[in-house]
Amino acid sequence: MGETKSFTADVVVIGGGGAGIAAGIEARDAGADVLVIEKDAAPGGAAIISGGGCLIVGSPLQEKAGIKDTPDLAFDDWMKWGGPSADEVWARYYIEHTLHDLFHWAERNGVKWVDLKSQEGNSVLRWTRADDSGHGLMSRLIASYKAKGGRLITNASVSEITREGDRVTGIAGKMINGESGDFTVAAKTVVVASGGFNSNVDMVKEALPALKESRVLEGSGFYARGDGHKLVRGLGGYLTHMDHIWFYAYATPDYRDQASGRGLVFRLVPGNIWINQQGRRFHNESLSGGNSGSPALLAQNPRYAFAVADRAMLNTLSISDPYYQSGEKIIRERVEELLENSPFIHKADTLAELADKMGVDRDTFLATVERYNAAFAKGLKVEPEFGKPLGASKPFDTAPYYAIQMFPLARKNFGGVKTDMRCRVLDKHFEPIAGLYAAGEVAGMAGGHINGKAGLEGTMLGPSIFSGRVAGGWAAQEAGFGAGFAGKPNR
Ligand SMILES: Cc1cc2nc3c(=O)[nH]c(=O)nc-3n(C[C@H](O)[C@H](O)[C@H](O)COP(=O)(O)OP(=O)(O)OC[C@H]3O[C@@H](n4cnc5c(N)ncnc54)[C@H](O)[C@@H]3O)c2cc1C
Repeated sequence: MGETKSFTADVVVIGGGGAGIAAGIEARDAGADVLVIEKDAAPGGAAIISGGGCLIVGSPLQEKAGIKDTPDLAFDDWMKWGGPSADEVWARYYIEHTLHDLFHWAERNGVKWVDLKSQEGNSVLRWTRADDSGHGLMSRLIASYKAKGGRLITNASVSEITREGDRVTGIAGKMINGESGDFTVAAKTVVVASGGFNSNVDMVKEALPALKESRVLEGSGFYARGDGHKLVRGLGGYLTHMDHIWFYAYATPDYRDQASGRGLVFRLVPGNIWINQQGRRFHNESLSGGNSGSPALLAQNPRYAFAVADRAMLNTLSISDPYYQSGEKIIRERVEELLENSPFIHKADTLAELADKMGVDRDTFLATVERYNAAFAKGLKVEPEFGKPLGASKPFDTAPYYAIQMFPLARKNFGGVKTDMRCRVLDKHFEPIAGLYAAGEVAGMAGGHINGKAGLEGTMLGPSIFSGRVAGGWAAQEAGFGAGFAGKPNR
């Protein structure tokens, strides 16, 4: 047992990911003494392993590419995609602040934005990637936070938010990962920025009881385990839209660490087809996103499928995991090691043999592939059964054949702690809990449910960083520093 260390700060932030570091920078800029408490050995959270893409409207990169985008167009796309449960006020607030208060702000903190990518649901390209993806984005923001005099303690797990009367007064927790002792931080305001809960499959199934009997893979940051949700709930904070979880379909269990329940996201298998346990295709596989491929997979019984590919299709396979990648480069030997060794990946010299290994009906499966191959033989541009464009595909003709078993992977939480527009945590009467703020994925990315049921992509990291700034600005103001977050809309 080590001793209890006692710290003080004007603003204490729980979690050093995208939202927490942005909150820290904002509160430091307002002149507050800030302490970020991070559970992991290093800050960054899910944000540092992310694709580093943010939805940004009216950026210089769009302008350079000749893309005409406006907040109105982005808002229309957002509401169409996310549906009626998207928070219109927060969505509008975020969209209109992406140019000055995300793009240019991040640049002032050392971030370089490098390119745009098309994402389902967007009528123009606006997913804007930072140099060196999430790693580049977060390394620069963390460096900026430290350079501004922001303090950070790592390997520190917050387990309590302290309160006297109606006001929060700080936090308490334990040192972990080989460090020992307890700690307390007395603070004027507390920002909860502890991320989502998708690396806690029990919480996922609690939020979506229909999935109780299904295998669901964990797919967020290592400590995205819902600690902050529990702390806020314990103080009477209101949690909302907890069943709005963004799943990915193209994920297979991490066979090297099966006990963890984590999934590996695989990409770049052009032309693969998805086969359910009945041996049939069920979807246009070219639409593989969270609002298209995932609902299709979740509708299968049982809730899994096989991504079937021939050898040629797997030559570009990438696995989004540091073990299989070095920066942007795919480590090909390790990908081959996965293909050879995972019990969730079957390989066979013939399609008939592959059907047996998948445990699906041979005749049904062979007829499915035959129909698909026939579309190529006929020279069709689109296969007729599910409308998949065939431009980037080829027939199944190069043995060996592979079937990668894929399960729904819980990636992002679109619901969480309800806050007002200052990121103050609201109770069940929708009144603020004095001194308590929440931002980022713990708050459904911003405000509680900014995306609704579906996200245009870039609408997780972006709103997390932005709401972190909003929370940091107002938490500093309540602690006696600055005038609160105002920003500059790009109307
Ligand atoms: C692989 C991957 C790729 C992604 N790519 C994109 C993308 O390109 N674009 C996009 O918009 N979104 C993306 N996302 C989602 C996005 O990264 C997250 O939504 C975003 O990082 C959330 O920010 P946050 O600060 O709320 O949480 P995080 O960045 O996860 O930070 C939370 C931090 O809190 C810490 N913490 C948790 N509990 C405690 C505790 N009890 N005490 C102290 N600290 C604690 C965690 O360790 C963590 O460091 C991706 C997610 C993943 C997993």
